[in-house]
Amino acid sequence: MVEKQQLAALISELSDLSLITDPGRLERFSRDFAWFSPILTEQLADKRADLVVRPNDETEIKRVIAACHRHRVPLTLRGSGTGNYGQCTPLEGGVVMDMSALNQVRWIEGGVARVQAGTRLVNIDKEARPKGWEMRLLPSTYRLATAGGFYCGGFGGVGSITYGSIGDPGNVLGVRALSLEAEPRELELRGREALDLYHAYGVNGIITEIEFALAPAYDWQEALLTFPDFMEAVRFCQTLGRASGVIKKLLTVLADPLPQMCGLEEQVPAGRTAVLCIVAKPSFDATRELCEQYGGAIALTQEHADVYGTAHSLIEHAWNHTTLHIFKRDKGITYLQSGFRPWENVEKSSKCIVTSAMR
Ligand SMILES: Cc1cc2nc3c(=O)[nH]c(=O)nc-3n(C[C@H](O)[C@H](O)[C@H](O)COP(=O)(O)OP(=O)(O)OC[C@H]3O[C@@H](n4cnc5c(N)ncnc54)[C@H](O)[C@@H]3O)c2cc1C
Repeated sequence: MVEKQQLAALISELSDLSLITDPGRLERFSRDFAWFSPILTEQLADKRADLVVRPNDETEIKRVIAACHRHRVPLTLRGSGTGNYGQCTPLEGGVVMDMSALNQVRWIEGGVARVQAGTRLVNIDKEARPKGWEMRLLPSTYRLATAGGFYCGGFGGVGSITYGSIGDPGNVLGVRALSLEAEPRELELRGREALDLYHAYGVNGIITEIEFALAPAYDWQEALLTFPDFMEAVRFCQTLGRASGVIKKLLTVLADPLPQMCGLEEQVPAGRTAVLCIVAKPSFDATRELCEQYGGAIALTQEHADVYGTAHSLIEHAWNHTTLHIFKRDKGITYLQSGFRPWENVEKSSKCIVTSAMR
């Protein structure tokens, strides 16, 4: 716990920076989406920052680091606070450093984007697209999530069907970081060294800039497909997922009754499994043919460009957004995340459905 004197000394030293001390806002800046978990909700209920600082540049960040180091006050980083596991909740109080003011795209060139850590992912795409590029990977929270938060606390999402996770070699080319020392050092880490900060929640360095490898920007088509049988939908996804000639951005299966629970009941008849697809427009015919081959039907198509960055994109029902929509209706459920190895995922899917049917 932080003593009153420690906090007062810190506040007086940083008084010319943007500080938040109002109890309501301290509470808000100490939370993320850990309320998805009944266990974390209980464990984190009384964890709160004593002070929130929003630095505007690296010089201010260095001052915050040095002051926290000198006064032995814990420092927790925050992007947009969309993490699911209390990653930006200060377990021992102290300072939460909000990175949202470091939000500049430094440059986009030759398929690479260099951005400040607090840049929202949607804004990187907005600047990259006119140049013919786009982000390879986005969490479904891309409208809010920051570059630093995604790299330090996220995993993958839209685009992972082609590019894997954000920590896979080649997706992030380098990071600029500051060490948490009396005199913070500036580190430029490239390639494998940059991975030391991947998924490290800010505990081994504060990222100020990230360099992302980009993907060529396609004209994308969103399609909501429905299947009478879960396993046929899984087999369709396996075939489409492996079809290297089909350019893909999203492929998500929602077993019955999930579509009824996550806001897709108008488009997906009860009893049917849904598949959310985003494919490049020239790949759409192949997608439709495969869908028919596996007994599926098209419930909805829309141009991705028309709905990107809005609540109408199918992205809003994929990844952990499925859970979010279900929680809005029923706070009594919870969820498990499971990873299946690619050579046994179809077999494991059939066992999952048998197991849940037996309950
Ligand atoms: C509905 C919903 C759907 C989601 N879908 C996905 C998904 O598809 N894929 C996915 O990967 N995640 C998903 N998430 C989790 C989360 O939204 C993402 O991981 C997102 O990228 C986090 O970004 P953020 O800016 O909100 O980070 P925060 O939650 O603010 O921070 C995440 C972690 O990074 C650390 N951090 C933040 N900035 C820095 C920095 N500059 N330097 C060092 N450490 C830093 C924080 O301390 C924290 O530990 C989802 C969450 C929700 C609620």
